[in-house]
Amino acid sequence: MKYFSSSILLLCSFFCLAQPNFNPINKAEFAPNEPQYLSINGDKKFESIQDLTVHLESKYLDQTIGDQTLQYVYTKNSPIGTHYTFEHRFKNKPIYQSSIQASFNKKGQLILVANNLVTFNDFTNQNSATEKGKFWIKNTNGLTLGFKILEWDSISKNYTSHYYDLNNRLILTHNPRLYFHAPDSVISAMVYLPNPIVATNQIYGGPYADNGDKNNTELTNARSKVSFSLKYTNGKLILADSLIQIKDLNTPKIEVIQPADSFLNFTRDQSGFEDVNVFYHLSTYSNYLRKIGFSNLLDSLLVDPHGANGDDNSFIETEKYPYEIEYGTGNVDDGEDGQVVVHEFSHAMSVIAAPKTTAGKDRLAMEEGQADYVTMTYSRSLSPNKTNQVFSWDGHNEFWSGFKTNAPLLYKNRKGFEDIDREIWSTALMCIHDKLRNTKSDSLIFSSYFLQSSNSSMPQMARIILKIDSLLFSGKDVGKIWQCFTNQGILDTVPDNIGLTFANLDQIKILNTYEFSQGIGMAIISISNPNFWTDFEIFNSVGQKLITQNVSAEIGLNPDDFKPGVYFIKLKSKQGQLNAVYKLVRY
Ligand SMILES: [Zn+2]
Repeated sequence: MKYFSSSILLLCSFFCLAQPNFNPINKAEFAPNEPQYLSINGDKKFESIQDLTVHLESKYLDQTIGDQTLQYVYTKNSPIGTHYTFEHRFKNKPIYQSSIQASFNKKGQLILVANNLVTFNDFTNQNSATEKGKFWIKNTNGLTLGFKILEWDSISKNYTSHYYDLNNRLILTHNPRLYFHAPDSVISAMVYLPNPIVATNQIYGGPYADNGDKNNTELTNARSKVSFSLKYTNGKLILADSLIQIKDLNTPKIEVIQPADSFLNFTRDQSGFEDVNVFYHLSTYSNYLRKIGFSNLLDSLLVDPHGANGDDNSFIETEKYPYEIEYGTGNVDDGEDGQVVVHEFSHAMSVIAAPKTTAGKDRLAMEEGQADYVTMTYSRSLSPNKTNQVFSWDGHNEFWSGFKTNAPLLYKNRKGFEDIDREIWSTALMCIHDKLRNTKSDSLIFSSYFLQSSNSSMPQMARIILKIDSLLFSGKDVGKIWQCFTNQGILDTVPDNIGLTFANLDQIKILNTYEFSQGIGMAIISISNPNFWTDFEIFNSVGQKLITQNVSAEIGLNPDDFKPGVYFIKLKSKQGQLNAVYKLVRY
């Protein structure tokens, strides 16, 4: 924490000098926008990214303000399909934290738009002679040009970004690190699965205490023998696989061990133990991700098992590439606790899936909560002990108390602190894991990593996970999943017949709409479960009902029967719990 207090002092002294008559009305505070997740029904496809750009620009940019464009930045693939992200630009400069993402299913149909574009009526564009204005940033005074200063702290070896407007007013300070407190050869090694407390089902204390990193019989016997592959380069074995490499990045300066033997038999008082333990858990979890179809969540990673300046803290550095993870050595070495090891890895997965989106109170609480979910599902895969104690070796001890994944907390009582609110989210996710078992909950939750936006909220991400269930698994477990979110007050009461409802919504397809709009072909309404619905109705744009007919599996609409205009197709479910409405255009 040394670093933060020194930087605050530094800024304060800067402001006190620069603005002696500081007027709070003129304060410029960052004004983040809330993303909207928009489900898209129908079968819209695009020939190219250019076509998609044109579509998104015309539909989602405020046409009354000129000079706005969307610029394609990257594509991510997930089990849902393909996700395209665009940066929002105004007068040829990017707008900070303003973007839009379009998601397509495997058939190439647009299914979801995450609209995280800032809206603005007002902007200040001083014709400053400086070259400072690199981007726009939305704040309490509207949209202004801003610039960024990186501040390097040589003690913590960490950058912090400070965002200013052109009047040198600080708008936002952002620390990009995600903290939590605190041809290969097969070899074997002794590791903790995942830590001595879980492995032995003991309580921290007595012989099961850190005791200054000393070794004893109990802690030696708590190790297990495992086998894994290591990279072989230049005639040497190194602690690395195709993506992960163990490396000394930061103080304490401790050389990574060089495996000289095919059995790495270290004890916890030796630095080689953490080197091997960290590598083993990261490599094992990476292989698990590959197995369940999430190799897209993997990327190059440098890892220091003795880093973080010796603090009782670990973090991932996301501003560097390859990404870097450092595990702290304060109190219990974080690298000794396999739970801490995979927790940090979840942050890497999240950053790889949705770069530059870790902003906002709910979003950061979910970031930690989902990492705790990864921690505990991994721990449970190794042992049935201590099923809800996050960091049971590194935490839940005399140094700090760790976290839980079975907290009776409600969303409406959230505190706005990620280290408290994380338990609301992790508890809901563990509930989903308990109800669905196997790898299905991982598929749902890891797919949701790709749809994260800055400032997304827990209710939004809960609905996204429900949506993913309907996309990937026909919504079979929507009721169970919904209940887990209801338990934490993230979503309201589960509606009746909800599983059926979601599944049925996905089973309605409106096909051939383009041909219909041009008058050259029939629009086809395909309904997989017609018995679920009562009447099929069509209204015009002023609400007059034009057609009522019985629902059948396929209904054709002849364009010759429709004058140019906008029409609405409406289906009502028999039990009245759902209306499905679709728009149809005839040019
Ligand atoms: Zn964390």
